[in-house]
Amino acid sequence: MESCLFCRIAKHELPAKVVYEDDRVIAFDDINPQAPMHILIVPHKHIPTLNDATAADNDLLLHMFAVARKLAQQNGVAHSGYRTVFNVNSEAGQSVFHLHLHVLGGRKLSWP
Ligand code: 5GP
Ligand code: ZN
Repeated sequence: MESCLFCRIAKHELPAKVVYEDDRVIAFDDINPQAPMHILIVPHKHIPTLNDATAADNDLLLHMFAVARKLAQQNGVAHSGYRTVFNVNSEAGQSVFHLHLHVLGGRKLSWP
């Protein structure tokens, strides 16, 4: 997916403020943060939406949540509270069609 924004960030072809990376995911600050902490956890594998993930991706999805938990702890919001979000398709407002887990914290969040 040469033209995919998050594939290009994951390959370090485009800049981002990377806060974590391993062989399966990269995590970086959202360019338009909605909270004091707003990190995107992005798999290196191009999966357009959560709908496109398969059983073969189950470990990857669990790993994304484990990374979210670690980043929340590192940012000091694990106790105060944080939110993990997958936006899926248009009514949820998904704008980048490469799977990403939002991790938001550092302020009181309203719902939804
Ligand atoms: P979505 O709306 O698809 O759930 O979330 C996409 C997120 O990606 C948005 O929060 C948006 O601010 C963020 N984003 C879009 N383009 C870039 C970019 O080039 N760099 C970074 N760091 N974040 C981006
Ligand atoms: Zn991609």
